[in-house]
Formats: sequence, C-alpha cells, structure tokens
Amino acid sequence: QAKAAGRNTLRFFDPQIQAAVTARSELEADLRTAITRQQFILHYQPQMEGTDQLAGAEALIRWQHPVRGMVAPGEFIPIAEDTGLILDLGRWVLEAACAQLALWAGQPERARLTISVNVSSRQFRQPDFVNQVSASLTRSGANPRLLKLELTESLLVSNVEEVIEKMVVLKKKGISFSLDDFGTGYSSLAYLKRLPLDQLKIDQSFVRDIGLNANNTVIAKTIITLAGSLGLTVIAEGVETEAQRRFLATHGCTAFQGYLFSRPLPIDEFDKLTEASTMDSINQRT
Ligand code: C2E
Ligand code: MG
Ligand code: MG
Ligand code: MG
Repeated sequence: QAKAAGRNTLRFFDPQIQAAVTARSELEADLRTAITRQQFILHYQPQMEGTDQLAGAEALIRWQHPVRGMVAPGEFIPIAEDTGLILDLGRWVLEAACAQLALWAGQPERARLTISVNVSSRQFRQPDFVNQVSASLTRSGANPRLLKLELTESLLVSNVEEVIEKMVVLKKKGISFSLDDFGTGYSSLAYLKRLPLDQLKIDQSFVRDIGLNANNTVIAKTIITLAGSLGLTVIAEGVETEAQRRFLATHGCTAFQGYLFSRPLPIDEFDKLTEASTMDSINQRT
C-alpha cells in the first residue's frame, strides 16, 4: 500500500499523525477548488460604539464544505497561508466585502456602517495589493471611508518602509486601518508610532479573564492608554460579559465586539439585526 501511494508521498507509521497529514492534504486539495465552486461566505459580527451604537461589522470568512459542513477559518486559513491560496481567498474577501458595502449604501439604516476586512500579511505584501483594493472599490462603487483593513503585527517583522508606503497610499483613498490581535505579536513601539494606523484591537486573550488575571488586566489597560497616547481609537474583541465590557469602558475603551452583543451572523440575519426595532431590543439588553 505504501508503494501504491507513490514515491513522493510521505508516510508515517504513527496512525494518528498519518490521519492528520491525510486530512490536511485533503483539505488543501478541496481548498483549491472551493473558490471556483463558490463555497465561501462572509459572516458579519457587529462592532459597537459605546453600548448602544452599531458602528459596523467585521467580515469573517466561512467555508461551507460540501461534506464536512461549516469549516472554521482557524482550520483552513493556516493551510491557505502555507500554500499561497490565501492570495486568491483574500482577493475574494475584499471583493465580497466591497460588494456588501455598496449594497448597504442603498439602505438607509445601514448606509453608514463600516466593514472591517482581515488582511493576511502575505496578502498585504503582494506588489499589487493597493491596486486590488482600488479595483474592488471601483468595481463595486463602495465608499472607501467605510472600509477598514485589519492588519496584524506580523507585518512589522520586515520591510516596514514598504508597508508604511502602501498604507499611506490606501489612507489617502479614505481607507482606515486597525491592528488586529494587538499585544500577541512583537510590535516595536518605534514602528507602531510610525504606522498610519487608526485603531488598535485588543486581542481576546487579554479580554477573556480581564479583572481576574492581573497580568492580562494590566496589558489591556496598557493597550488602551497606549492607543490614547498614539492618538488611535481602541476596540476590544471577544467581549462576552457585561463585567468585561464595563471594566474596559471604565478604563477608556469605547468600542466593543463580541458575543455579548452578537456572534458573527450570516448576512440576512445581520440585516435583520439592523432593522430599527431589533436594534432597540439589543440596546435595551446592555
Ligand atoms: P480575528 O480576526 O481575531 O477574529 C475574531 C475571532 O474571534 C473570530 O473567529 C470571531 O468569531 C471570534 N469571536 C468574536 N467574538 C467572540 C467572543 O465573544 N468570544 C469568542 N470566544 N470568540 C469570539 P473566527 O471567525 O473563527 O476567525 C478566526 C480568525 O480567522 C480571525 O481572527 C482571523 O484571524 C481569521 N480570519 C477570518 N476571516 C478571515 C479572512 O477573511 N481573511 C483572513 N486573512 N483571515 C481571516
Ligand atoms: Mg480580525
Ligand atoms: Mg482579532
Ligand atoms: Mg483574534
């Protein structure tokens, strides 16, 4: 049987490792066809200003696998990163998010909502990334002022000058930037100051046990203060409880995202949420 698998196929004698390797290469093969077969969709998670104002949504990709059902991004984004498929995937996400912004533009209760799009470092580093964003905006007619790009600290490991240059060009078009999962990477404070960012996003690992774990509490408070002194806004992700929200708000955090408000939703459910009567009931909860 090992022979039939071919000379270039790695074989492990630990059945568990073998199973994991097989599952991964199957997912990888499926991923290659998933874009053309339109198996991806975006879910939208509300981003709140204060307790009661819906400011926008983060677009989060979902893979509707024909056999496995819904596959979470944690399972396929790393594979997409390793194989380079993230470039196609990322282009699709930008295109879909801009199309959604353009649709909302015609709907009074949603016309001012922003959409945050996760951009992987590999995607951002493509020489034509700026053109891709411009093309998606032009094709859709979306307002660049409503598009926010979420970058991660891994962009800061090399070629920072190039990164800054691209950000400046995109900012001139009206696009804004948030630094995602902030605090988990290895930002140099010197670079942080030079990046034309708009927002820091406190990673959910610091939010989870805020007020309970002394270290994470200090980190969250420090990020809020840092954002303030850099002139940036700050949003907390993974806010699940009212206690977490209140703690963060007390220390100066003004924007929130998390299950306390809503899970990421399919677009029809998100749209329902933004109908005037439903927003009122969300607001009364908080
Ligand atoms: P992220 O950008 O940090 O997104 C936040 C993640 O936290 C999402 O997981 C979201 O569903 C989850 N989350 C939100 N609120 C809560 C909460 O209150 N509690 C808990 N426990 N979790 C919460 P998701 O959707 O599974 O995405 C995971 C990661 O996959 C994202 O982390 C992002 O890094 C990546 N990702 C998702 N969509 C895209 C995409 O379109 N492009 C790229 N490059 N990466 C993406
Ligand atoms: Mg994100
Ligand atoms: Mg995040
Ligand atoms: Mg995160």
